[in-house]
Amino acid sequence: VVNDRAALLAAPEGAERLLGLFDTDHLPYRLDHRGEAELGARIPSLAEMTTAALSRLARRRDGFVLQVEGGRVDHAAHNNDSASLILEMLDFDEAVAIALSFQQQNPDTLVVVTTDHGNSNPGLTGVGQNDTALARLDGFRVSTERLAAGLGSTASLEELRKRLVAATGLPLTDDELAPLHAALAGHGNAPYRPDRAFAPTLASVLENHTAIGWTGVDHTADFVLFSAIGPGAAGFPTLIRNDAVHSHLVEALSLHSVRAGA
Ligand SMILES: [Zn+2]
Repeated sequence: VVNDRAALLAAPEGAERLLGLFDTDHLPYRLDHRGEAELGARIPSLAEMTTAALSRLARRRDGFVLQVEGGRVDHAAHNNDSASLILEMLDFDEAVAIALSFQQQNPDTLVVVTTDHGNSNPGLTGVGQNDTALARLDGFRVSTERLAAGLGSTASLEELRKRLVAATGLPLTDDELAPLHAALAGHGNAPYRPDRAFAPTLASVLENHTAIGWTGVDHTADFVLFSAIGPGAAGFPTLIRNDAVHSHLVEALSLHSVRAGA
């Protein structure tokens, strides 16, 4: 069992099993690494975890199935947290590169990249001053989750302003801060999800600066992207219903007999 990045990177290759537990709950967002340097020393990237898993599983003579999930992409979408979402996707993208390079060296490997559902559907909206909108995300340093947890529901308007400027680098106006302060105290205008008033209110304020808008705070019914490379990949569609992912994977892994006997 390893509990930090250094221990993972130094773990003996020959051990039969390796379990990495790097936090007591969900891992911190990659965005929070920008504000807290110690996180980088403690938490490995998804690519590093993928490398550690592949180097060990590759020795299995009967083959293996490895699932690598960029799990916090979903959480960032629930929070309408654009900067966190993009950095989680980049972290996932690095892990995909590791899998693809393994596949190149081991062409009998099937690599499938997909998602279990859409979520809150961010889009570029053209709202606000969007000429340099996306570049503003470079100044973000704290996830919405960590920001809200640090503020609590009783924070003053000035405390909110101070923390938001530190988190985003944006000079927010009093008009922008007022609805956020209300949402923080539980008086937000979010009739469908009063428990999640702060995050979408913050996102709609930030939309004026980042030009990224969201359709909601929960999973959506979109078709999901499905991409694959390796044996059997040619038969996979590009866009499918999310509940069809399962049957395609069963097919690819030749698990019909297992399913029938279950
Ligand atoms: Zn979710």
